[in-house]
Amino acid sequence: MKVLVPVKRVIDYNVKVRVKSDGTGVETANVKMSMNPFDEIGIEEALRLKEAGSADEVIAVSIGVAQCQETIRTALAMGADRGVLVETEDNVEPLAVAKILKAVIEKEAPEVVILGKQAIDDDSNQTGQMLSALLGWSQATFASNIELGDGAADITREVDGGLETIKVKLPVIVTTDLRLNEPRYASLPNIMKAKKKPIDTMTPADLGVDTTPRLNTLSVVEPTKREGGVKVETVAELVEKLQHEAKVI
Ligand code: AMP
Repeated sequence: MKVLVPVKRVIDYNVKVRVKSDGTGVETANVKMSMNPFDEIGIEEALRLKEAGSADEVIAVSIGVAQCQETIRTALAMGADRGVLVETEDNVEPLAVAKILKAVIEKEAPEVVILGKQAIDDDSNQTGQMLSALLGWSQATFASNIELGDGAADITREVDGGLETIKVKLPVIVTTDLRLNEPRYASLPNIMKAKKKPIDTMTPADLGVDTTPRLNTLSVVEPTKREGGVKVETVAELVEKLQHEAKVI
């Protein structure tokens, strides 16, 4: 059984994101980029399924600029078997990403696809859900545990009130939540081995997908600076300030 894991190249989570001076987006020039943290969790889970004997091949797929190869190499160094790069300079929105992934999935025929619950750059939280709708497959979002069975899987999901376990038929689209696992670090020998692993490269047009954006970003602005707080001595003082200073009650 194949497991396919989409991995997105995003601004590293340690970087303080800055808005471009012309307000058209965020600065990505000379900024450290890394694999979306939720996708590292997806790769780790796929590798654990392989190590447990439930899967025999792990494929990492990335959509974006040529440098997404580095993101795929990171997945290969962790232990994925091969990569697919769908190369484009366009800003690919979640619906187009889902359409591209659908085309790759139709070629590769995996039974489990593990995406991140969200990419930490746009925080869309849309691709997994759209992909499962386009394919007509089961979906289990925000997974914190996956038990693969025969033709089905028991998946524990993080929901508002706690945890929910559902049984889904394979093939399935899973999206990872933070507590699913702790991703491994790639060892030096595995980083060297990853250099020889194959990466297939294609374009959205090769897959018959139009990536023309459907959204138009009007402006991007920094959040307003927060002013320092004050400590109040009594409830009466708090109510007074809420009424007369903040004017919210
Ligand atoms: P989003 O819906 O944009 O928050 O992204 C959710 C998940 O979809 C990510 O964690 C990735 O697994 C996958 N994904 C989104 N964009 C891409 C991309 N450009 N390349 C590969 N995977 C992606």
